[in-house]
Amino acid sequence: MKRIAIIGSGISGLSAAFTLEEKRRAGVPVEYVVFESSPRLGGVLVTDHVDGCLIEAGPDSFLTEKPWAADLCRQVGLADQLIGSNDADRKTYILVKGKLVAIPDGLMFMVPTKILPTVFSSLFSFSTKLHMAREWFHPPRKADADETVASMVERHYGSEMVDRLADPLLSGVYGGEASQLSVRAVLPRFAEMEAKHGSLGRALLAARRKMPSAANAPARPLFTSLKDGMQQLVDAVVARLSAAALRTSTPVQSIQPQTGGWLVSAGYASDHFDAVIVATPAQAAAALLQSASANLASELGAIQYTSSITVNLGYDQQVRSSLPPGFGFLVPHSEGKQMLAATFVHNKFPHRAPEDRALLRCFVGGARNEQALQAPDEEILRVVREELRQIIGLTAEPRFARVYKWRGAMAQYGVGHLDRLERIERLRQQLPGLALAGNGYRGIGVPDCVRSGANAAGEALSAIGFAQSPQIVAS
Ligand SMILES: Cc1cc2nc3c(=O)[nH]c(=O)nc-3n(C[C@H](O)[C@H](O)[C@H](O)COP(=O)(O)OP(=O)(O)OC[C@H]3O[C@@H](n4cnc5c(N)ncnc54)[C@H](O)[C@@H]3O)c2cc1C
Repeated sequence: MKRIAIIGSGISGLSAAFTLEEKRRAGVPVEYVVFESSPRLGGVLVTDHVDGCLIEAGPDSFLTEKPWAADLCRQVGLADQLIGSNDADRKTYILVKGKLVAIPDGLMFMVPTKILPTVFSSLFSFSTKLHMAREWFHPPRKADADETVASMVERHYGSEMVDRLADPLLSGVYGGEASQLSVRAVLPRFAEMEAKHGSLGRALLAARRKMPSAANAPARPLFTSLKDGMQQLVDAVVARLSAAALRTSTPVQSIQPQTGGWLVSAGYASDHFDAVIVATPAQAAAALLQSASANLASELGAIQYTSSITVNLGYDQQVRSSLPPGFGFLVPHSEGKQMLAATFVHNKFPHRAPEDRALLRCFVGGARNEQALQAPDEEILRVVREELRQIIGLTAEPRFARVYKWRGAMAQYGVGHLDRLERIERLRQQLPGLALAGNGYRGIGVPDCVRSGANAAGEALSAIGFAQSPQIVAS
């Protein structure tokens, strides 16, 4: 019997464990142990129920376009629990000079694909609209080197587009800044489109025309989630795993290569495994691998992380009817607020709040505001309530409030990230039986983490002599 250690039980580690469990059930002579430092499994996937509302402390959903998380849900018997976001009410606002302005229809990330809504939108100045018109004639440009998202967006649409859209959208997804994140790692499609077509607008329209069925197919919701919240996925995966293989409150201190495998040290115990999957944030992986390979540890440690805080507030019917329609708003850095964004959960996923309640989920923290994590919950709550008063005039007392802090949870793919991943891969291959999974590498969203866990399990199996299933590659 071969043994594989999995370190970290976020969705990446759980996906790896599930893949191994499936192989074990199919007769592959393999067993696994999951080491998790915290008392619970699931990493940042945490769902709470308060006052009839379903509260997501971490991710609330995942992009429908990326199939791997929904696939995992189906594999663990949750097909009938998948739900889509309520896209009929999808409308997002940007705070511009203290006022909420709707993102115009037809804008894909920051690329306009419909002329009239963009022309009449007050989100952009005349000068940005002129940039958009000129962008249509942008010549193809094959970049020799990576660059920041800000520099690419600015070249196409000007700096206002960076401030009002690119930066707030990226800070919503990565808690990061457009002026730091790598365009090749974060927006690879845009880098390819620029190289081939020049204009991003023309490239997107050309791509759309190539999709023959798009016009007839029913539109899929942008986001997918689970009826009982993201925790439902954790619970369903864990229920499939062997209970004896799950070791919570067991931080791993080090992993050492040794003859025919790895020595995993956790607490006072050390155990031999044939392979090891490190599914922690890259910074924690760096600490674990320091003595096995200082070079690998140094590359892993160079992947930066930011922290995130979610503040969930429940209100009564009066507030619900006074709020604007739509999914919520984003706050550009230039507005000088601590809040990065707010979601009107009762509109995005209506069943998550009773009809007579409003449920708001606000985000604080990110790359520019790491110190927010040090503030006590009451202070964070005070700031969020004050900013909600300024932005949407909300002064009512919430029925409940919950603050969740996630230290160093959001990986930042800086310029050169893909080159770093190549170096990491070369160094990893010098350590047989080592596989890496997690949000630090090829995608921060839940679906990418699921994919990374499944792929790492495949690599670990292959390293110990079992045929590897083909890698799941991002399309
Ligand atoms: C607030 C927030 C909102 C988000 N929203 C979305 C969203 O809506 N949609 C989306 O797709 N994505 C979202 N994300 C991103 C996504 O949820 C994460 O990138 C993903 O869940 C990370 O999973 P993971 O398993 O790689 O890491 P984690 O969930 O961080 O798990 C890593 C685990 O490793 C454990 N660990 C660390 N060191 C050790 C050690 N030495 N020994 C043992 N265990 C260790 C940790 O305790 C942790 O449980 C969000 C993230 C956050 C924080």
